[in-house]
Amino acid sequence: MRGLDIRERPSPNHGDRGEPPNLRPINTLVLHYTGMQSAEAALDRLCDPEAKVSSHYLVEEDGAVWRLVPEARRAFHAGVSCWLGESDLNWVSIGIEIVNPGHEWGYRKFPEPQMTAVEALCRDIVGRHRIPSYRVVGHSDIAPDRKADPGELFDWPRLARAGVGLWPEPDPGLRRRRGRGVGIVERARGLSDLARLGYEVVPGNEGPPLAAFQRRFRPERWDGRLDGETSGRLAEVAQLYDASTAALEAARRDRFRNYRRVN
Ligand SMILES: [Zn+2]
Repeated sequence: MRGLDIRERPSPNHGDRGEPPNLRPINTLVLHYTGMQSAEAALDRLCDPEAKVSSHYLVEEDGAVWRLVPEARRAFHAGVSCWLGESDLNWVSIGIEIVNPGHEWGYRKFPEPQMTAVEALCRDIVGRHRIPSYRVVGHSDIAPDRKADPGELFDWPRLARAGVGLWPEPDPGLRRRRGRGVGIVERARGLSDLARLGYEVVPGNEGPPLAAFQRRFRPERWDGRLDGETSGRLAEVAQLYDASTAALEAARRDRFRNYRRVN
């Protein structure tokens, strides 16, 4: 990997990715925070055979990167999870643990050297595996009932500027709609956008996926309420999502056309 000094700390906690025809391609990148008091404690746990958890990489606050599990193997980082209708995302994903004490031990900003390393690592992974921007997710996106990581302090806009993940710049007028109620029709449209983006939306339990969306795309308040600002933000992200899927589809058609031309 160019520009990245990766240290090896092999974890025993991994399995195969399945055999053909059940082999599912790597198509998702999942970002986590460690949520432990120190990097060393997190590394110990991720390598402890009793704990049965792991990730492919861990990035320390000073930017040091550890490889725990080879990408060709299935690391145990996502647990019960769902995104875009696909469940058990360990089978199709690469997981990065980013050192941070998390909400339990004193959640804090992710320092610059750490973000520089995270950005370089993510760019490399999405480039090699052609992971589309709408399949770069936080753990809380794919398990909103259980997880809050990497959380509202994580710099998603920066990653998006580097070509990793979705981040539409918010319309400046949007903030005025915060806290304002929405009608039945707007609420239905917002929840449908939420599901289309990939979140698992269970009727009667819309709060957790809404809060996960807010942590990521409207990080000033994550109350799980579909207010006017959240509804507007959902529409902005859904628009970018549609543009990304359409661009991908057009590229696929081009490749197919070129293939037919040369064959
Ligand atoms: Zn996590």
